[in-house]
Amino acid sequence: MGARTGAEYLAGLRGDGREVWLGGERVRDVTRHPAFAGSMRGMAGFYDWQHRHADECIVPGRDGASATGISHLVPRGPDDLRRRHRGLERLARYGVGMLGRTPDYLNVTFAGFAGQPTIWSARGNGRGAENLIAFQREIAEKDLALTHTLIHPVVDARVEPFAGVNRETAVRKVAETGGGIVVRGARLLGTLGPFADELALYPSRPIPEDASDVALIFSIPVSTPGVRIICRDHYGADADTDPFDKPFSSRFDEQDAFVVFDDVEVPGRRVFLDGDPRLYNSVTAWGWHGNIMQQTSIRATVKLEFAYELCCRMAEVTGQGGRPEVAKMLGEVWTYAELTRAAVRAAEADAREYGDGAWFCDEAPFRALRPTLPVWMPRVNEIIRTIGSHNLLATPSKAGLDHPELRPWLDRYLSGADGVDAAERSRLFRTAWDFVGSALGGRTELYERYYLASAARTYALAHAAAQRDREWRQVPELWAHLDERG
Ligand SMILES: Cc1cc2nc3c(=O)[nH]c(=O)nc-3n(C[C@H](O)[C@H](O)[C@H](O)COP(=O)(O)OP(=O)(O)OC[C@H]3O[C@@H](n4cnc5c(N)ncnc54)[C@H](O)[C@@H]3O)c2cc1C
Repeated sequence: MGARTGAEYLAGLRGDGREVWLGGERVRDVTRHPAFAGSMRGMAGFYDWQHRHADECIVPGRDGASATGISHLVPRGPDDLRRRHRGLERLARYGVGMLGRTPDYLNVTFAGFAGQPTIWSARGNGRGAENLIAFQREIAEKDLALTHTLIHPVVDARVEPFAGVNRETAVRKVAETGGGIVVRGARLLGTLGPFADELALYPSRPIPEDASDVALIFSIPVSTPGVRIICRDHYGADADTDPFDKPFSSRFDEQDAFVVFDDVEVPGRRVFLDGDPRLYNSVTAWGWHGNIMQQTSIRATVKLEFAYELCCRMAEVTGQGGRPEVAKMLGEVWTYAELTRAAVRAAEADAREYGDGAWFCDEAPFRALRPTLPVWMPRVNEIIRTIGSHNLLATPSKAGLDHPELRPWLDRYLSGADGVDAAERSRLFRTAWDFVGSALGGRTELYERYYLASAARTYALAHAAAQRDREWRQVPELWAHLDERG
């Protein structure tokens, strides 16, 4: 099949029997439920977007396979990384970086995994590695959408993650069948959970060496019996909401969900690792970071550049651009965007082979970016609120602007500087409000804070990685140099 269209994506979700809960309702067909209508249009639009920009987003398949999305490419050298950068940037522009978990995120992850078979086949896991490579081919060929759930629910943070009350919640193997394994437990948080074809589990942080029953990596269709997708409240606007009024909420709620595994049978061919905590703890240690951070940092760059443009226009439309305190804030947003782009460029420039011919970015710039973005993104939102202030709420809707009785008043009192009319001014501040202040805007800020673990945790990880390469050099050099001179 290869790269799908929006219609093909929707057809794939229809009537597959998946168990999705929204509030107290079991949703029978996510593609036809009124709450999800906007999101479904948004997701279908994403699949169509790759065809609209096929020269950047679609590449020939391997070994005669159908043409496929660029995010499935296993990078083998600098040209591949450059090509992938162009495609990923184009994909990110579809949602101006507000969509964190479009399918390219996990496609890139699995392309990276499949590109490093030696890591996966270590310690006698040859079968798991073969399954993984076959799975990656399958998702590329069928252009499937994946969600993933990495975090075990913690009932009581005073108790060790896999002990006592917290042990009961972890997804663990409870039985083996002739054809596979049976798993039970729960995971959070699967963004895109109800809208994905596949649900993948892989490591996010180390597990104890004796926790072999939770050392599991696999992927199953979301429709597998026993998988319960329990959605948070939907923050998307009604289907008939005009994107003028709510540009993001009308299309781009990715819908996070909590996932329960109620004795779910995972077929053997979909098990990539089973029961080896040491291997489990090592598969994402080398290469994963340099690979996936290219995708997500490009998305962050697109979002920050969009935010800069948005802020500049808000300042222009209100005539505030010349005020020093506003200019300072605009420069601050530009700086975050430019530093993010520069980090991506540096990571790509120092890319290297990570084994098996897989070519990924240098990790160091990304180690610095990973804890920083969760701080910069909320700060940018604060700047948008500060520059926007009350204007964020003085925003007549499309219906109000179209009303013949109202419009003259709106043009008279709510137009902008330099001849900007009330409609443009309103649309601009509505866009800004949906970016930061709507329910979806609030959720997206939380996403930026946590989707790659908290800043506290990733600063500590950055420090630990820096310590691995560190030499005790500069201080002794200074002392020696001072001592020499007397
Ligand atoms: C909108 C959204 C969407 C998400 N989507 C997905 C998804 O699709 N798939 C998925 O698997 N996960 C997803 N996640 C979950 C995400 O992976 C986790 O929220 C993230 O890993 C943080 O997990 P944690 O609670 O263990 O964080 P932690 O890093 O443990 O942080 C929890 C709290 O502890 C504090 N803390 C942690 N370490 C320290 C320290 N050393 N010193 C001081 N304070 C510290 C943090 O500041 C924070 O307040 C999503 C999360 C959000 C918010």
